[in-house]
Amino acid sequence: MSKLWSPIVAALKAYVPGEQPRMADLVKLNTNESPYGPSERALEAIRAAADTNLRLYPDPVALGLREAIAARHEVSVGEVFVGNGSDEVLAHTFAALLKHDRPLLFPDISYSFYTTYAGLFGIEAVEVPLDAAFRIDIADYRRPSGAVILPNPNAPTGIGLPLAEIERLVAEHPGQPVVIDEAYIDFGGESAIALVPKYDNLLVVQTFSKSRALAGLRVGFAIGQRPLIEALERVKDSFNSYPLGRAAQAGATAAIEDEAWFEATRGKIIASRAKLTSELEKRGFEVLPSQANFVFARHPGHAGQTLAAKLRERAVIVRHFAKPRIADFLRITIGTDAECAKLVAALDEVL
Ligand code: PMP
Repeated sequence: MSKLWSPIVAALKAYVPGEQPRMADLVKLNTNESPYGPSERALEAIRAAADTNLRLYPDPVALGLREAIAARHEVSVGEVFVGNGSDEVLAHTFAALLKHDRPLLFPDISYSFYTTYAGLFGIEAVEVPLDAAFRIDIADYRRPSGAVILPNPNAPTGIGLPLAEIERLVAEHPGQPVVIDEAYIDFGGESAIALVPKYDNLLVVQTFSKSRALAGLRVGFAIGQRPLIEALERVKDSFNSYPLGRAAQAGATAAIEDEAWFEATRGKIIASRAKLTSELEKRGFEVLPSQANFVFARHPGHAGQTLAAKLRERAVIVRHFAKPRIADFLRITIGTDAECAKLVAALDEVL
């Protein structure tokens, strides 16, 4: 710590990203990327964007991309906000919407960036424990609170909430923003975007990093009614008015238009998830019911940290969280069937 630091930074619990090791032949199942390359149409658009026009600033309002997202999700272009990954969209959301005089509720256990952003933006956070089955019970959010943010499906549990529950949550918080982080929605969940026309306090955040296989491009978006989006635009224009580069805008536009690639790829991941779940259960793991591109699993006879370390020795990387309540668990990204088979073979050596 330095005396030059602001008190906010001195007190900040910075987010610790998952490892991005560079070893060849690694089975990398630790940060929920897609095991498949992105749509060929997206790659072509990115290559085409690498021309002399890169000397020019990109479209500051990313109109083409926002139109494509609006068309895909049947909303108007003014209801779409884009940013550098959903992390940036979430950061702008915290800055724009969640700075209330009352606290912000989110689950304990959940995406740990929420704690970091609450610290960074000086928001009082109230963490609401999951129930005994590691589920979010929206009845626990029924208190005179400020805003709510939660992932659906939740991370790292993978457990989703039905749309009717999300609607109840949004309806029970009139006048307070409810942010649904749908990073993993395309692997079996029900998106709350359908509720946006009905509720002026709902903001839905999604990403191109998972189901569109573009984590390296950094594109995320939010959908909500105009006043919420306008608040995000104000923050963005006060922070970086050109948040998305030309390649990112072009690539993401082509990606969201490639429905055939999207359907085929998410179908493969959902099928692999079912197979991996059954292989893990055969070996004595308890696997939480996942609607995401990862599973959260524990073995009664083996500590999570030890298992993760032994897998690592066998060139298989999974995620382990130190938080006491979930320290038994491993979060395992769904890889290709071949990658999942290598994980299972490594487990057979260590169990
Ligand atoms: N929300 C959740 C719940 C996540 O797990 C992640 C990925 N770490 C993100 C948001 C951010 O994803 P990105 O910034 O790549 O869009």
